[in-house]
Amino acid sequence: MANPRIFLSPPQISEREYDLVREALDSNYVAPLGPMVDRFEAALARYTGFPHALALSSGTAALHLALRVLGVEAGDRVVVPSLTFIGSVVPVLYQGAEPIFVDSSAKDWLIDADMLDATLARLAREGRPAKAVIVVDLYGQPCDGALYAAICDRHGAALVVDAAESLGSTLRGRHAGHGAQITCLSFNGNKIITTSGGGALLSDDEALVRRARNLSQQARVPVAHYEHVEFGYNYRLSNILGAIGLAQLETIEDRVARRRALFDAYRDRLGGLPGLSFIPDIPEARCNRWLSVALFDKNVQAGPEEVRLALEAVNIEARAVWKPMHMQPLFRDAEMVGGRVAEDLFARGLCLPSGAQVDDDVLDRICAIVDRLVEAPEAVSP
Ligand SMILES: *Cc1c(COP(=O)(O)O)cnc(C)c1O
Repeated sequence: MANPRIFLSPPQISEREYDLVREALDSNYVAPLGPMVDRFEAALARYTGFPHALALSSGTAALHLALRVLGVEAGDRVVVPSLTFIGSVVPVLYQGAEPIFVDSSAKDWLIDADMLDATLARLAREGRPAKAVIVVDLYGQPCDGALYAAICDRHGAALVVDAAESLGSTLRGRHAGHGAQITCLSFNGNKIITTSGGGALLSDDEALVRRARNLSQQARVPVAHYEHVEFGYNYRLSNILGAIGLAQLETIEDRVARRRALFDAYRDRLGGLPGLSFIPDIPEARCNRWLSVALFDKNVQAGPEEVRLALEAVNIEARAVWKPMHMQPLFRDAEMVGGRVAEDLFARGLCLPSGAQVDDDVLDRICAIVDRLVEAPEAVSP
């Protein structure tokens, strides 16, 4: 009998989700508002330490609203890392703005701070300064919000942190995303917690969140008839999905602990192989290890694609590191600053299965396959 498929990062559902969804249905708040959404927002704010949270239909919607309320308009420039998921970047296009891509740093895989600083200075000199910067907490790596905020302040750009992958990560004891004007989360199906689809916007700034909330509900003016002065979006999270999110969030610390233990196990067992290393540690950070990412040296026996195919052959899902945006046909005319690091991480990285399905037995199977392919032939021959 074939082994059941092991997914990269599948959802994990308990009885608690069923109970809260039933409660939501019984309440008849089957709408994009209701007590479960309110409770989910309060729980998100409490957990992340932000005073204001707004639950939305996706992480992409959260980023779009962030740019809109920060005043990004058609023709504006927005700096984003090239090494990210497309969801970080399409909100720039939704606003008719222009993405300027910047390379990542090999030391933490986050947008290169020095390159960002120099780029913002140059864009200002050109007379078209960047309106905003989106820093992405790649694979859960929490960025130093104070560092990036100082750079952005110097050049008059707003700072958004795309924390879609870093829920549960901390830096110096604080949750990921602090220091930004707005921080965005995603609860898509493969994230560390999920509402099937969903997202949230977090901020210290009550006025920004109030405005985002209004725009997320078709920008209705609060009068008895429907009155509209400007256009908004239908971006609110459903109350039913809020119930799922509330149940999921109760387990976040266990999930972080489990993913971190799995990453440590991969690194202990495979990190000693010649030519194999892992995504770097950030000092004073607790990374949620959303995905465990291995890095293959160029001269190693088998590269990430061979390993991915060997795992796929036994029904185990692994995936390349995000393909950089400046290598995408969609962005062939966009400006790119640097690019060597992003291209290198894409060529050499592999995301290993990181969900709760990876028990000791699955871990043994995965490690045996990687070991067999990567180990030098003289070391395996008798
Ligand atoms: C998942 C993700 C998003 C988008 O979130 P959705 O909820 O899928 O819209 C944005 N940025 C990054 C880095 C992501 O991983």
